[in-house]
Amino acid sequence: MRQTQILGEYLALDDAGYLCRRCGHRFCGRDDLWKRHARFRESPCREDVLGAPVSPREDGAVVFRQFFCPGCLTEVDNEVALAGSPLRWSFRPPERPTDGGRA
Ligand SMILES: [Zn+2]
Repeated sequence: MRQTQILGEYLALDDAGYLCRRCGHRFCGRDDLWKRHARFRESPCREDVLGAPVSPREDGAVVFRQFFCPGCLTEVDNEVALAGSPLRWSFRPPERPTDGGRA
């Protein structure tokens, strides 16, 4: 049996999938994107949201995404992304099979 991998302050991965290190909530299996199973908040990238200076952009389409554990509401991860872009695969297991892998 594989050991639990610590992926972040509040996120871990074991044989069954992704889980919260604080409350043990299970987000999903290893092959799914855990962020889809988290509570999610998306805010405009503004100085009052980020608490840091933000350079204005012509398109204004950058968002700040936060992902919370549904069990304990801890913020597990966040990302800055273009509005409408797919969620990032952060903490993807390196051994995850690729599409159309070996026969
Ligand atoms: Zn939790």
